[in-house]
Amino acid sequence: MHSVTEVIHIIGQMALPLPMIRVPLRLAAGCVLAEAVKMDLDSPPFDRCMLDGYAVRAVDTLEGAQLRIIGRQDAGGAAFTGTVTRGTCVAINTGAPVPAGADAILMVEHTEQSGEFVTVRKSPAAGWGTQRRGADAARGQTVLEAGTLLGPVQIAVAAAAGVAEIAVIPRPRVAVLSTGDELVPPERVPAGGQIRNSNGPMLAALAQRYAVLAGDPQWAPDDPAPIRSKLLEALAGAEVVLVTGSLSMGTRDFVPAVLQEMGFTTHVQTVKIKPGKPFVLATKEERWGGGSAARRFLIGLPGNPVSGFVCFHRFVRPLLARLAGGAMPETGRALCDQGLVANGDREFYQPARLDHRVSPLTVSPLNWRGSADIYTLAKAQALIVHPVRAPLREAGTVVDIIEL
Ligand code: AMP
Ligand code: MG
Repeated sequence: MHSVTEVIHIIGQMALPLPMIRVPLRLAAGCVLAEAVKMDLDSPPFDRCMLDGYAVRAVDTLEGAQLRIIGRQDAGGAAFTGTVTRGTCVAINTGAPVPAGADAILMVEHTEQSGEFVTVRKSPAAGWGTQRRGADAARGQTVLEAGTLLGPVQIAVAAAAGVAEIAVIPRPRVAVLSTGDELVPPERVPAGGQIRNSNGPMLAALAQRYAVLAGDPQWAPDDPAPIRSKLLEALAGAEVVLVTGSLSMGTRDFVPAVLQEMGFTTHVQTVKIKPGKPFVLATKEERWGGGSAARRFLIGLPGNPVSGFVCFHRFVRPLLARLAGGAMPETGRALCDQGLVANGDREFYQPARLDHRVSPLTVSPLNWRGSADIYTLAKAQALIVHPVRAPLREAGTVVDIIEL
């Protein structure tokens, strides 16, 4: 039996970032950047006008002075090829290149125009309303380091740097297989002894949120042959396969034997975590689906949805983060507004409310009715981590939390 810390350590050692791929920029959000991005040009690429108005020589703009408009320069429009000379100006708008000879922008709100003349009402200082070529980023400059998580703004930076295809660590693909003779899909009314499969849809939703869901979630009865064929199918299209049910030592628990037969190495079978026994971590190296050799992760999660949920957050999230080239998620800290009873020798995860509007950050444990109680879990925004053999604690102590 492993401790939670041991299992996380094993995951950290087994899970290496997936090989990098190149994807169109629009598919890169949420991925970790595999190669640094450098500017291919200066940004802005020319001295740029920041306001609508007139490109002027600042020295000519004493209040009340009249300037003659000798042309216009629009953003993206034909280049004004002349030069702004003494007593003249060029009508210009935001984003346009500042014409030769001009060193400031006279904002339209600070002028009066009549015919081909403008009168200055407020004088700009030299440089005002303009932005120098390369002022934001210079050609050759590294603007995104390898290892950066690509969000919307990083995507904008890559686009500005001229990157249309970007090198990323792909997010792992996750397949979901629920096993159990007692399970029926949500659209069916369970007959005697049956229950609805709630864990499968939950894990699929978690896979979608923290990685990429591979195919439709699958089901197999408690029977080794269909379990094996469903597993093979899942492994062909996913780096991580989540299996529930049929993992323990019961007479109808076939997954461990099937894994052994398929040549998987089992690293973890049970963990001192509550709720959450059993938890299986097994791996196999192979040319899945004819591609290059790759390590597949088989994760066996408890059938009870709350236990499966806790194990997903505690173990599968770090695994997915590592495979995706990121750092393992850390627990947070919050004040607990209730007293906590002493804990036994299994790390205990308790659903809790968490309100980000309250300062300091405070969690309220929810009254939890066991590892099938998804109805209470549905009200939680965090899990409180009760360490092994934690003593009785009073309201107001700081606890570790996992945000959901
Ligand atoms: P097992 O992990 O197969 O020993 O199942 C533990 C408990 O979880 C049993 O009460 C199962 O009926 C229930 N269970 C197993 N799989 C699911 C599932 N996919 N959805 C909801 N409950 C499940
Ligand atoms: Mg079962």
